[in-house]
Amino acid sequence: MRFDILTIFPEMFRGPFDYGIVRRARERGLVEIVVHNLRDFTTDKHRTVDDRPFGGGEGMVFKPEPIFRAVESVLGERFDRERVAVVLLTPQGRVFTQAMARQLAQCARIVLICGRYEGVDERVAEHLATHEISIGDYVLAGGEIPAMVIVEAIVRLLPGALGCEESARRESFAEGGILDHPQYTRPADFRGLRVPDVLLSGHHAEIARWRRRMALAKTLRNRPDLLEKAVLSDEDRRVLEELRRALPKTDESR
Ligand code: SAM
Repeated sequence: MRFDILTIFPEMFRGPFDYGIVRRARERGLVEIVVHNLRDFTTDKHRTVDDRPFGGGEGMVFKPEPIFRAVESVLGERFDRERVAVVLLTPQGRVFTQAMARQLAQCARIVLICGRYEGVDERVAEHLATHEISIGDYVLAGGEIPAMVIVEAIVRLLPGALGCEESARRESFAEGGILDHPQYTRPADFRGLRVPDVLLSGHHAEIARWRRRMALAKTLRNRPDLLEKAVLSDEDRRVLEELRRALPKTDESR
């Protein structure tokens, strides 16, 4: 897979891709990440990427020409929309999820367009981008950090990127769609805070049952919205009923 990132601040990408899973994936040739300076696709001597908004108002807006030129330069004028994604980072986009990361991980090429200022001329969203993606309901100063988030979420899903593929199948938002269970490590007793006995019992079936119950309890408490679409067994539903009954009427303690 190859990522092309379009930005006016290419220096921001020095570092984030040089650690951990993304670094290993690059070294193994699983992914190539190329960062382009949007100003290299301007034609005026001031290398202008932005202009004032039509209709008046504060701030500046990214012009369409350098962005169209940059995308056409890295992908060619025609590209296979099945295997290539052109992603505009914008708070007005669909909110990024693990399911979207899994879908995008099937692409051969992904171009990420990082806006700044008041955003990007709408013709980019309408006529160039295949996806408009937001990383959450808040407004950042630019698309660079969202681009880093999206690259990392996708790269760790590429076959061979994780040390243990099994862990991606069990983690939060994976196949069943609920949160991961809590994890503990040594020491078994830290300042009197003991690890749950079941984890020290060596009884694998009991441990699996406890983990599933804890994953359901955490999802119910922190992300009940996920339960609406989760894949649940009859036993899961029974456990959830029990957990709901035990829940205080208003859980404002956390
Ligand atoms: N005027 C825009 C609005 O209210 O929707 C906000 C523009 S924002 C200050 C500048 C740029 O930051 C955007 O063009 C986008 O690339 C990026 N950005 C900010 N928040 C984002 C988010 N939650 N997800 C993805 N990109 C974001």
